Amino acid sequence: MSAKLLVVDDILANRRLMQAKLEAKYYSVLLAEDGQKALEIAHADQPGIILLDVMMPGMDGYEVCRRLKADPETAHIPVVMLTALNETADRVRGLEAGADDFLTKPVDDFSLMARIGALNRYNAVAHELRNREANGVRAGALSDDESLALERGANILLIDSREGVANAIREPLEQAGHRVLTLDEADQSNGRGTSHLDIILLSLSHQRFDPLRLCAHFRTTDATRALSIIVMANSSDREIAAQALELGASDIIQTPVVPEELLARVNTQTKRRRYVDILRRRVDRGLELSVVDQLTGLYNRRYMTNQLGLWMKRAAAGNIPLSVIAVDIDHFKQVNDKYGHEAGDRVLQQFAERIQENVRPKDIVCRPGGEEFLVIMPETTGELAGRAAERIRRSIAADRFALDGNGNDVIEVTVSAGVAAYQGEQDTVADILRRADAALYRAKTSGRNRVTNIAA
Ligand code: GH3
Ligand code: MG
Ligand code: MG
Repeated sequence: MSAKLLVVDDILANRRLMQAKLEAKYYSVLLAEDGQKALEIAHADQPGIILLDVMMPGMDGYEVCRRLKADPETAHIPVVMLTALNETADRVRGLEAGADDFLTKPVDDFSLMARIGALNRYNAVAHELRNREANGVRAGALSDDESLALERGANILLIDSREGVANAIREPLEQAGHRVLTLDEADQSNGRGTSHLDIILLSLSHQRFDPLRLCAHFRTTDATRALSIIVMANSSDREIAAQALELGASDIIQTPVVPEELLARVNTQTKRRRYVDILRRRVDRGLELSVVDQLTGLYNRRYMTNQLGLWMKRAAAGNIPLSVIAVDIDHFKQVNDKYGHEAGDRVLQQFAERIQENVRPKDIVCRPGGEEFLVIMPETTGELAGRAAERIRRSIAADRFALDGNGNDVIEVTVSAGVAAYQGEQDTVADILRRADAALYRAKTSGRNRVTNIAA
């Protein structure tokens, strides 16, 4: 995970200043002087965070932000808007454009590092999860349903000992559709309602207890570990606010709380938490579903081995035949070398389709790896499997393969295959695969574009 930041500002002095501050904290910094440049760099270099000036000639920061968020390649990159003065209207516009966070110019170092630190921690989690998604899945892009789920109101636990303040905070949140629960209310309901919490809003001042201890407790307790913690601190509490961040607080909001900012930060935290939830669920589901090879849609090696084991048991129990065909494209490396890997991938996809067209629905076509394929043929003798293999071989050689999307560029492809048949109870998955491979090897060494059937 790179802590690479992109700083977008039309004024050179601002860019330089920000660069100096960030590099002093060992972040690596990319610079862009206008919106167009920013979009290009964001696309090409995938920075971890974008610090985006609002006021720029030509494309302003809002428009840049909108475009970043509309592009699936850059939508996941957190954008921090740099707004001049404390203009609430600017912040609302920024939010509408999809900004993740705000900083007011002139930017003070504490707020800057607090924001970046929090975003980096979030990035690390989201990045890890995106990487664990099944290969080839759009990098973290959300479906419409998932995007809607991000926007739904949050359940917030508000921890502030002062009743008047608590009410002043509660009101704007509830008006915006969030549900707010105080500690007392949570106590009275015996914790009911705390099971679906999204955010803990923790005031660092005027508490009856040590708020840092509480912060640490939330972070180390299973039930609350994944929640967002927003701490509220006044400007004289910087020291303790910094400690809270180190203990794992997700964000800081200055008191007295400005409702618009509160809502913006709550929304951001809610979205982030749900985004991470969605990714986490996808990873789980991906693990279940990862029986299919992404490129061809055929079954992968894991599924192949499981199914073959299963069918061998059935064959033994029912005394019914079972065969496999090992299939390998001839000189496939040359296709890659000559036409590129992408063309090679296209050939693999068409190849997979051709095999499927030439076997029965109950046959299980797998791609255990690379340009090797295997067909499991239940209830099939070696002799019949040999005929199927020959059918596949002929079909591959008969029609050429397209190298590009529109079918203009075509090449000839041939294939070699080896057939092996189940030999009864003492036979194992490894054995039958080894025999199929040995047969395939014979087909290769005796000239390619042929089928060897040691089973028949
Ligand atoms: P042979 O006739 O002996 O099978 O020769 P070959 O060139 O087909 O076999 P070899 O095993 O030497 O090379 C296989 C090639 O398949 C090498 C590798 O680059 C390519 N390959 C493996 N997986 C993929 C893939 O997913 N996509 C693409 N495009 N190529 C792949
Ligand atoms: Mg090959
Ligand atoms: Mg090979």
